[in-house]
Amino acid sequence: MTAQIIDGKAIAQKVRDEVAVQVAKRSAAGKPQPTLATVLVGDRPDSAAYVASKGKACAELGMGSISQHLPADASQEQVESLVRQLNADPKVSGILVQLPMPHQINEERVLSLISIEKDVDGFSPLNIGRLAQKGREPLFVPCTPYGCIYLLEQAGVKIEGANAVVLGRSNIVGMPAALLLISRNATVTVCHSRTRDLPAVIRQADILIAAIGKTEMVRGGWIKPGAAVIDVGINSIPVLNPDGTPAISEKTGKPRQKLVGDVNFEEAKEVAGFITPVPGGVGPMTIAMLMRNTLRAAEIQNP
Ligand code: NDP
Repeated sequence: MTAQIIDGKAIAQKVRDEVAVQVAKRSAAGKPQPTLATVLVGDRPDSAAYVASKGKACAELGMGSISQHLPADASQEQVESLVRQLNADPKVSGILVQLPMPHQINEERVLSLISIEKDVDGFSPLNIGRLAQKGREPLFVPCTPYGCIYLLEQAGVKIEGANAVVLGRSNIVGMPAALLLISRNATVTVCHSRTRDLPAVIRQADILIAAIGKTEMVRGGWIKPGAAVIDVGINSIPVLNPDGTPAISEKTGKPRQKLVGDVNFEEAKEVAGFITPVPGGVGPMTIAMLMRNTLRAAEIQNP
């Protein structure tokens, strides 16, 4: 069997196009522009790049963005006071605090301060708590897990009644992904670093969501024939020449790197029914869902 490749880039673009249409409609109706405020504490280049790409996406979709940057030695009080200020600002529809924050900042306290109506990342304890309770609806669902479920739905994968295995139990991907699958009536097993005989557990999965950050760890032989595989992992590895030596970029003179997932794509695509590639699978969905959540925040605050 050769799996159907789930094209996350195309699906994310469709989500973005739909958001842009709704933003334009709001603007034509004289409603306030949906606006995302980002909070970056410190100078991690990856975090700075993520924040910049979120601002760029807002501009492309006709939304506003406000970028707040505090120094790496910012105090808890400074970060909290910034979040309070953004909560109170009527121009701000959604607040995204870029994680991780420097070690002196208590992340949980900061996230719990974000107003539930502006929590477009879906990480405040209130939104996560609602996600974890039967019959309660969170206002916002964390963007990457939301993207995973959306990809499954768009590919036509039946979630209800399926045996789903989630690899990883982090607050930002694995655990909310598992909660979302349960809310859609899958039977869910969550695996982590202490799980015994991972291949045997994975072989039961009609749906596999892999979010562990371990280069191509899941082998094709572990996958149930016909399963839907969503690979969240982003791992950077060196590109090798045919003789096994590292390939060097002509442009930079540095070793070339490429991104791969947590699943061995070449092997898995021969067994699975559906699979997301890395890059071009879950990655583009995260910002698309953030844009969707920001529009929703504006709709809640100014219907
Ligand atoms: P974390 O490091 O926070 O969590 C990793 C999880 O994997 C933990 O629950 C850990 O178990 C588990 N784990 C680690 N090793 C193994 C193993 N050998 N077998 C089984 N489970 C294992 O990672 P994140 O959730 O933040 O991210 C996971 C991956 O997803 C990363 O590659 C990251 O880059 C990517 N990612 C991609 C995004 C996107 O937009 N596409 C967004 C966010 C993340 P334990 O709890 O026991 O330690």
